[in-house]
Amino acid sequence: MPNILLLGGTTEASALARLLAAQGLSATLSYAGRTAHPRPQPVPVRSGGFGGVAGLANYLRDHRITHLVDATHPFAAQMSAHAVDAARLTGVPLLALTRPGWKPVAGDRWTRVADIDAAVAALSGPARRVMLALGRMHVDAFAAQPQHHYLLRFVDAPDRPPALPRHSLIVDRGPFTGAGDIALMQTHGVDLVVCKNAGGAGANAKLTAARALGLPVLMIDRPVLPDRMEVTRPEDVLAWLGHTADRGV
Ligand code: NAP
Repeated sequence: MPNILLLGGTTEASALARLLAAQGLSATLSYAGRTAHPRPQPVPVRSGGFGGVAGLANYLRDHRITHLVDATHPFAAQMSAHAVDAARLTGVPLLALTRPGWKPVAGDRWTRVADIDAAVAALSGPARRVMLALGRMHVDAFAAQPQHHYLLRFVDAPDRPPALPRHSLIVDRGPFTGAGDIALMQTHGVDLVVCKNAGGAGANAKLTAARALGLPVLMIDRPVLPDRMEVTRPEDVLAWLGHTADRGV
């Protein structure tokens, strides 16, 4: 009987948790513990870092985990790298459930940059009204370009105000719609959107809105991750579990 550790913090992980629970499979969903009130889940939940690769390897052994599924966000590069290393150390099979990156379509005005630092550098120049659709962890880096007015949208109210001299902050965990984001961008006079290439349907309302309004987008590319087996649909994880179980792994 599989005993799955599911690294989560994404809608894909929550969808997979529902599937696993519906199948009566034993699984624990792991959160980093960054969100104050995560959504209720149909499987047991643990929260907080494991303490690096060694900590995760110990967890896998101590809890007799048979399968590790990394369904973290495509930008959670450290956790994903740790999962690869801990799986190798312990021999626990690893599968990543991830989402394809977004690709520009007709009407999109993207400039691609490699990472957050490159996005900050690309914002040198006259003051603009920038929607910073990044989550709260990387926002302070943009204090290096204090001339802009930033529109921020966070899942939770932050413990301390963002270090940006000119900003508006909205606390909203969505779901968002193209029409809603068009109205938001118009209300705030946004003239540039900065975001990460997260991929997936849940987060693309801002791109639909930027396209409709003809606004430029500064798109931050995904971090490079170590080689690993990847699927894009929660159902594919069930197939993998069946496959490996059949082989007695
Ligand atoms: P990260 O930089 O790759 O991870 C930093 C550390 O946080 C990891 O080394 C690990 O600590 C801990 N951690 C991360 N994900 C964890 C999980 N699911 N369960 C237990 N510990 C976890 O990750 P991040 O970018 O800060 O993302 C944190 C969480 O937010 C992830 O669960 C991710 O799926 C979610 N998320 C991230 C983004 C994003 O843009 N980065 C967006 C939406 C959601 P230890 O080394 O101590 O084990």
